[in-house]
Formats: sequence, structure tokens, C-alpha cells
Amino acid sequence: APLPARQRITILGATGSIGSSTLDVITRHPERYCVHALSAASRHEALLALCLTHRPQVVVIGSAGAAEVLREALSGIESYTGAPIEVRYGEQALVDISEAPEVDSVMAAIVGAAGLLPTLAAVRAGKRVLLANKEALVCAGQLFMDAVKQHGATLLPIDSEHNAIFQCLPAQHREGLAPIGVEKLLLTASGGPFRDETEWPPERLAAVTPAQACAHPNWSMGRKISVDSATLMNKGLELIEACWLFACRPDDIQVVVHPQSVIHSMAAYSDGSVLAQMGNPDMRTPIAYALAWPERIDAGVEPLDLFQVARLDFRAADEERFPCLRLAREAIAAGGTWPAVMNAANEVAVAAFLEGQLAFDRIPLLVEAVMQARPPQVVDGLEVILSEDAAARELASAQLAVLGP
Ligand code: NAD
Ligand code: MG
Repeated sequence: APLPARQRITILGATGSIGSSTLDVITRHPERYCVHALSAASRHEALLALCLTHRPQVVVIGSAGAAEVLREALSGIESYTGAPIEVRYGEQALVDISEAPEVDSVMAAIVGAAGLLPTLAAVRAGKRVLLANKEALVCAGQLFMDAVKQHGATLLPIDSEHNAIFQCLPAQHREGLAPIGVEKLLLTASGGPFRDETEWPPERLAAVTPAQACAHPNWSMGRKISVDSATLMNKGLELIEACWLFACRPDDIQVVVHPQSVIHSMAAYSDGSVLAQMGNPDMRTPIAYALAWPERIDAGVEPLDLFQVARLDFRAADEERFPCLRLAREAIAAGGTWPAVMNAANEVAVAAFLEGQLAFDRIPLLVEAVMQARPPQVVDGLEVILSEDAAARELASAQLAVLGP
């Protein structure tokens, strides 16, 4: 269907790294986009500032207390439609702003499985869904893709690798790689801050601090995904994400460490052609692509200067130093509830690491222990995913007592 004059957008996770980049792109094109709703878990001052700039109709925050503060601060302020700004809190409010009839597109940029229900609500309402929240797809891939088909939602990947692959494939690619002549997907990885084995031997990896793990060489991102990039769990989650988005198997995907992050991923065709999407590492490119698709708009991104880049390097990923990638392969190969279990355990492990409660090199040990304790089950609906997610979190917290400092 043709897009309306102005796309009305809900941004889930508006105060985050992806949320801010999305608002940056939207602000460049006021004739094309307006903001229906914004959400954040906490940080009501930051959310208030966004409301004053973007004048959404609805704003959603995590707690009743924060909602009260926001309501006070926004009294007398009108939304872009001229109505008062509605302030809400809690999970149902997130679902409501994702499926509201006046919404055209939903940017799913909450971090973690917490984004699953609102993102799925957007899919079930047949929205144009801009998917940054990879954990939602990892947890509930089959349900999610079935719902996309059933409700005619448009799913546009924001993760730079998947956005790159999407750009390198023909428009009709939901039936897998064989019908479109693709042999392999090449998923690039920066390798994270600890990719250099001589600089980061095992004893140094054990003593990594949160600040070191969050200092990503090429991308500026939220803290959870930064730690995932450092353990390579991010690439593991992306491997699973790619299997669902492009209807393929883990064996169809090759992980390629490419330290410059200039190629964002590739598709290798049966005639020998390899198509790559390139650009500076700036998330505004995939965000602008998905916002405007199938058109193209200015994203505010510096043009790529190949003479400055000078060279592109490629090497294999080291799954022994970074076992999370292997765990993700095992999780998607076994299928069922295992990816959800792995993801939940990883969320607990990363949060504990960021709070100084778990050593960096024990993150994969904790994840593997939880996976071993929760064998995969068949997914026959959302219930089993939510209950396995909860059980895995409980087991992971218990494991902290064993593996913690
Ligand atoms: P972030 O931590 O910067 O922001 C997360 C946002 O989600 C914030 O607005 C926060 O308030 C909200 N949030 C957190 N927990 C919540 C909860 N329990 N309920 C409701 N809202 C909650 O994260 P980010 O880096 O912007 O990443 C967001 C998602 O996008 C992640 O799934 C990440 O993997 C993915 N992603 C990010 C990047 C990047 O460059 N930052 C790249 C690719 C994919
Ligand atoms: Mg990515």
C-alpha cells in the first residue's frame, strides 16, 4: 500500500541509542514523519525533553511514580495534533501504542526480551515494524515470522548486518535462499574490543571491566549490546536473527570478522557474485533506509571515503576464545525454546557483569550452565516461551552464587 503523506511513528525505547538516532533522522524530514508515541523504561528527564521537542500524542514510562512526574511536567503542553499529551505507564500501555490504529510504523528499540510483547503486538496489528530489538526475534522467531505472514506486517531489519543483507537481496526473499539463487549469507563482525588475541590473552579477558567492554572500537551503542559485541554473543544473536529473517539455516551463514566495519554484510550468489552493502558505521543509515523504504532519504551520515578507509581485512571468528557464538549455533540448531533460554541467561549474565557481580569470561559459562539445565522444548505458543524465559532467569540468578566473584 502507498504510504500516507506523513508516517505516524511509535518509538519503543526512545531514550536509547537507537531511539535517539531514529529521532535524529525523523527530525531531518518533518514533512514525512511525525511521532505518535515515545516510550522509555526510566530516565523521565530525558523522555520529557524528547516530548517537548517531538510533541507525541502518547508517552509511556516504566513506573507509576515516573508517570506522575511526567504528567505534571507536561500539563498544558499540546501534542502535534493539538490535544493534551497522554502519559501512561506499564506493559499494556506499550502494547497499546504499538497497535494503535493511527500508527503506521513502530520502531522496536527496547533492549532485551522486555520488547517481545509490544513488538509482537505491532506485528499482529499489521504495522510496518522497524526491528532493532533482535532479542524479541531470537526468543520467538517462529511465532514472530508466522505472525508477520498472517497479519501482513512489513518487517524491516534495523540491525546493520541484516539491513545490509536485506539491501543485497531481491524484494521477494521470504521463501529462503535457494529460490533467489543465494548460496550463503556473509555476516560481518567487528570482532569487538578484545578481538586481538595477543593483546587480550585469557588472563586479561578474565579481568575486563565494564568500561573496557563498552568501549567499542567502531560503534557507539547501548551498554547491553556493547557487552554482547565484546563476548560475540551479539553475533550469535544475529546469526539466529538472520535464520528467521531470511528463512535459512545456520549452515547457510558464515561469520566473517571484518575489523573496519565498512562492509555491513554480504550475500553470495550461485553465479559467483558477492553483493556487499558498505558505509560508515552509523546506525542512521539502516534507520533511514527502513523509515523510507523503498525510497531513500538523507540520513545525516558522512559519505564513505574509501581512500581514508584504504584497506578492508577479513578473518574467521575464534569460537574457542568466544564460546557465545558456538552456544548460539547450538541453540538455533536445537530450536524450540533454547534460543529464548540462552537469551534470558545472557541478559542476566550481562547485567551481573555490568554491576561487577560476574567476571567477563564467566558470561559464556553461566549461559551454558543454564542451557544445560533447561533442555529445549517444543514451542506451541507464547506461553512456553515466557515461562522458559522466566525459568532461565531464575536459574541464571542462582548460578551467579556459584560463578560470581
Ligand atoms: P539502549 O540501552 O541504548 O536503549 C534501550 C531503550 O529501551 C531505552 O529507551 C530504555 O529506556 C528502554 N528499555 C530498557 N529496558 C526496558 C524495559 N524493561 N521495558 C521497556 N523499555 C525498556 O539500547 P540500544 O543500544 O538502543 O539497543 C536497543 C535494541 O537495538 C537492542 O535490542 C539492540 O540489540 C538493538 N541494536 C542496537 C544497535 C545500536 O547501535 N545501539 C545496533 C543494532 C541493534
Ligand atoms: Mg548488528
